Amino acid sequence: MTQSPSSAVQPADWHNWSGSQRHRARVVAPTDVEQVVTAVHAARDAARTVRCVGSAHSFVPFWTDDVIVVLDALDGIRAVDRVRRTATIGAGTKLHALGPLLWAEGLSLPQQGDIDRQSLAGALSTGTHGTGRTLPSLPNFLIGMTLVTADGSVRELTRERDGELFRAAQVGQGVFGIMVDATVALDPAFNLHERTWSCPFAECAAEHAALIEHNRHFEFFWTPSTDACEMKVLNKTDAAPARLGEREYIAPAWQAFPSERDVRFNEMEYSVPFASGWDCFLELRAMLLRDFPKLPWPIEYRTLAADDILLSTAQGRETVTLSVHQGAERDYRPLFDAAEAICRNHAGRPHWGKLHRLESRDLAALYPHFAAFQRHRAALDPDGMFLNDYLRRLLVG
Ligand SMILES: Cc1cc2nc3c(=O)[nH]c(=O)nc-3n(C[C@H](O)[C@H](O)[C@H](O)COP(=O)(O)OP(=O)(O)OC[C@H]3O[C@@H](n4cnc5c(N)ncnc54)[C@H](O)[C@@H]3O)c2cc1C
Repeated sequence: MTQSPSSAVQPADWHNWSGSQRHRARVVAPTDVEQVVTAVHAARDAARTVRCVGSAHSFVPFWTDDVIVVLDALDGIRAVDRVRRTATIGAGTKLHALGPLLWAEGLSLPQQGDIDRQSLAGALSTGTHGTGRTLPSLPNFLIGMTLVTADGSVRELTRERDGELFRAAQVGQGVFGIMVDATVALDPAFNLHERTWSCPFAECAAEHAALIEHNRHFEFFWTPSTDACEMKVLNKTDAAPARLGEREYIAPAWQAFPSERDVRFNEMEYSVPFASGWDCFLELRAMLLRDFPKLPWPIEYRTLAADDILLSTAQGRETVTLSVHQGAERDYRPLFDAAEAICRNHAGRPHWGKLHRLESRDLAALYPHFAAFQRHRAALDPDGMFLNDYLRRLLVG
C-alpha cells in the first residue's frame, strides 16, 4: 500500500522533548522504504522542506513547519552477522528496544549515553556519546547506512567504499537524506559493574584523573548549589548480574548504561581538547558559583576518544565534554551564553543536538574538513530539501 503524499496530510501541532522547538507541520509516518521514497517525491514536487525526527530529544531547531518524517515504523533488526559481529538495524529503532534485541543475538552496543530513549538514526546523526577515554561516540560504530536522498533514490553507503562521503554523512544532522537503516559494529554481549557515590568537590579534584585512567567509563556531575559531586564508574565484568550494595550492581550493558531523566530541561554541551578539560571546567565552576550559585542543575564531565568523522566534536582530538543544564520552564540564555563564552575560549565544539549559537563561519575555523562536508552535502541535496533556516546558517553560510 502506498501512503498518501505528504501534501495530503493535514498540519498538526508538534514539539520536541524539552518543548524548546514547536511547529505546526505535516507529520508523515512511512511504514516502509517505498513510502519514504513517495514522501520525498511528494515533498520535492511541492517544494517543501523535509526534516526527520527520531525521538525528538534534540534541543536545537532541527525541524520545520513543512514536512516532519517520523521513522518509528522502520524498526527492529534486519540482519545479523555473528561472525563479523555486525547488525543491520531499522533507523527508527529506539535504543531501549535495541538493547534486548541485540542481547538475544549475543551482542551489545560497545558504548551508550546517559539515556536510551533516542532512535538509532537520531543518536548517530548528532554524534551522541557516552563517556570513556578509549571509547568514541556512537557513530564511530557505524559501518554502513541506507539513505533515501533528495532525488528519491535509495543509496547504500559503506565506510569501506565511500570514504570521505561516508565520514561526512556519519554525523549528518539529517542533511544528507533520510536514513532507513544502519549497519553497526558490535561487541560480544557483556555485563557492566556500576558504582556511584557522592563526594565533596575537593575529593573529585584529587581523584578524577586517576578515575579516568583506570575505568572503562568514568563521569562526574558537579552541582553549584551543593558544590558537591556525583561520581559514576562502569567497567566490563565476567561476573553474573547481582546487586552488590545500595549504589553498586552488575547488569547487562544495555540495562546498566542508561539512567532515568524525568524532569525536563534544556542543555548545552561543548567538547574541548582533553588537555583543556579540567581548566575549562574550573572556569565554568567559578562562573557558576559567582553568577548562578543556587542552580540545582549540574555540569556533567565526560571523556571521549578522538575520531576521523568530519563533523564529530572529537574529530582529530581526544576530548572532554562539558554540559550545562537549565530547567525547561526557565530562560536558559543567561546561563548558556556565559558557559558558551568560556568553552569557546578553549576551542570548544558544540554537541549538534544541544543548544548553541554557532554559525558556518565558526565551523570553518573549528573543523579542518568543513569544506569537504559542505561539498558532499551540496552534491546529495543541491536544492536544500533537507535544510531549514537554522541548518542553512550553520552548514551552508
Ligand atoms: C534527557 C536527554 C539525555 C541525553 N543524553 C545524552 C547523552 O548522554 N549523550 C549525548 O551525546 N547526547 C545526549 N542527549 C542528546 C541526544 O542524544 C541527541 O540529541 C539525539 O540526537 C537524540 O536522538 P533522537 O532520536 O531524539 O533524534 P532527534 O532529536 O529526533 O533528531 C536528531 C537529528 O537526527 C536527524 N534524524 C533523525 N532520524 C533520522 C533519519 N532516519 N534519517 C536522517 N536523519 C535523522 C534529525 O533530523 C535531527 O537532525 C540527550 C538528550 C536528552 C533530552
